[in-house]
Amino acid sequence: MRLVLLGAPGAGKGTQAKKLIEKHGIPQISTGDILRKAVADGSPLGKEAKSYMDKGELVPDKVVIGLIEDRLKQPDCKKGFILDGFPRNTAQAETLDAMLKKLNMPLDSALSVDVPKDDLMKRLTGRRTCKGCQQMYNVYFSPPKKNGVCDKCGGELFHRDDDKEETIKRRLDVYDAQTAPLINYYKKSGILKSVIGVGGIDEIFKKVCIILEGK
Ligand code: AMP
Repeated sequence: MRLVLLGAPGAGKGTQAKKLIEKHGIPQISTGDILRKAVADGSPLGKEAKSYMDKGELVPDKVVIGLIEDRLKQPDCKKGFILDGFPRNTAQAETLDAMLKKLNMPLDSALSVDVPKDDLMKRLTGRRTCKGCQQMYNVYFSPPKKNGVCDKCGGELFHRDDDKEETIKRRLDVYDAQTAPLINYYKKSGILKSVIGVGGIDEIFKKVCIILEGK
């Protein structure tokens, strides 16, 4: 399976990607996760990316494209991969197509996870992530058993800097302007699929499996 997950911030791409990687044993490649790690490590790349991320803007294409190029060449991607948060604009999508053509690994599908705007806001402001294992929670919809503590590994939960209200608004605007046009891009190339990302995580995952694999 070589898949791109599309959808606004908060649509649940990461959550569905994690379930797909468990099922298929292929890597999830999240540019957001890679960039957040670079920021946490204080690397030069992280320092460059942070100012864009804090404002809810996209990090320059050449930075993320370089990251993806390195990652897709790793041997574990031979079995397939799930791209989560990349591409984010048409230039990235075109570069990705060219890169995958060269590697002889074209995409099978681009799955758009569709969620109404009002729901997205609550999902993003309520989102908490585990510092240890990256498990996600939502204080409104799926809180941890103990406030601030991960059910799975006991790690500390944190609120991403870019999940604050002003930044969220900007991220949603950037999505509408730059990323939403990719739905048409993949429709034209004939690999677009879509799922309504509202309801329970497992219920959505069942629909995802049927849409992608027919079962
Ligand atoms: P995400 O976790 O996917 O919502 O990404 C968090 C932030 O990382 C975004 O708001 C961007 O600043 C940056 N980012 C992640 N993926 C990309 C990408 N493909 N292109 C540019 N910036 C990105």
